[in-house]
Amino acid sequence: MIDSRISSSITREVDNLKDELIQLVSDIVKIPSVNPTYPGEVYEDVLGGETEVARFLKPLLDDIGLKTDIWEKEKGRSNLVGVCRGTGGGKSLIFNGHTDVVPPGAGEKWTMGKPWSGKVAEGKIWGRGSCDMKGGDACAFIALKALLNAGFKPKGDVILEYVVGEEMMNTAAGTGATIERGYKADAAIVVEPSGPPYRLGLIPASPGVFYMVVTIEGKAVHASMRDELIRPGGQGAKVGVSSIDKAVIIYQGLRQLEERWGQTKSHPMFTRPGHFTLHPGVITGGPSGAFVVSDKSRIEYAIWHAPQDSPEQVKQEVEEQIALFAQTDPWLREHPPKVEWLLWWPPYDVPADAPICNSVAAAYEAVIGEPVKYYGFAAVDDAAFLNRAGIPAITIGPGSLFVAHAPDEHVEIAELIDAAKIYALSIMEWCGI
Ligand SMILES: [Zn+2]
Repeated sequence: MIDSRISSSITREVDNLKDELIQLVSDIVKIPSVNPTYPGEVYEDVLGGETEVARFLKPLLDDIGLKTDIWEKEKGRSNLVGVCRGTGGGKSLIFNGHTDVVPPGAGEKWTMGKPWSGKVAEGKIWGRGSCDMKGGDACAFIALKALLNAGFKPKGDVILEYVVGEEMMNTAAGTGATIERGYKADAAIVVEPSGPPYRLGLIPASPGVFYMVVTIEGKAVHASMRDELIRPGGQGAKVGVSSIDKAVIIYQGLRQLEERWGQTKSHPMFTRPGHFTLHPGVITGGPSGAFVVSDKSRIEYAIWHAPQDSPEQVKQEVEEQIALFAQTDPWLREHPPKVEWLLWWPPYDVPADAPICNSVAAAYEAVIGEPVKYYGFAAVDDAAFLNRAGIPAITIGPGSLFVAHAPDEHVEIAELIDAAKIYALSIMEWCGI
């Protein structure tokens, strides 16, 4: 049970820092820190924004007495870590947030100021990165500052991490680099936007996601020969084979697997059935256009799998289904599709009654006045990599994925204040003061 006299002296300090919090979010939104590896971006042209954010934040962290560390694992992309040494005898806590953002997209679709405006209006802060996730980044800092301003010192270490590269899974350059450099703790809170469906929901689990490409071979011939390929009595594969026709067989096979997953894959944190899917994002054929029978097709998938399924198990299920459908077709039997597993973002799965969840839930209830809502993340974030490094990490942060990565991205100021209060009381609960 949180002592309400102590907690209100801390939350009052967050209220006192409201203007500073708003200014800080607005200031860092004004720094275009697009991930330089984002598809369609010219690396050299956008490189450096992440570092600029880290350099902007460093003196603020220095000012409240943190031991700061700014370094780059990948040239031109600086991470920033600030450590508040505990007085001893408490558990340590990491707050992790990323400094990179996705590109703003078509500027004319923005109606509330330009993408880098950092505009404050209608009780919200607007601009690319305001929600995902410079709002959360600022809240973690303000939370610690408020706690210190209130005259309390955490017993355990509090570590603020501002990392690069999350948006494109450049983990080795960002969160992975902090782990490699030795920044570990007894638990971590990733301050990504954790709505929807709930405002400031607590996320103890996320799916894993694979990027998988399946390539299907065909045999090119003049398009006028199509009847030979598809009509009874034609010469068929002797003349040509459309890789597009064959890709549809594989597509149907994986659609069936997706249906099966909808009925069989579940997890207590994913209360709506059917979250785990095989999403075909790109289907191509050709490459020579409509007048040549297509001899190569590719289907690119994002495969969202249940947290409890091992990557080996997922790969096996998918490959078996592809093989099963390939068996139904004479050409595919002889020319099996090629499956490439290009990326894997691991899931995470912290028990909902883990000590870090209990501490954050107590903090939430003290601030909001009702129990926190738990649920599984729709997307993925760096909590996965912290968990894999042995640090129990959960996600809770201001903002909604409904507006992240979209035009007119924004975050509500009232939600920022609540988040900062929840973080401050989480430090009190977890690290001790
Ligand atoms: Zn994010």
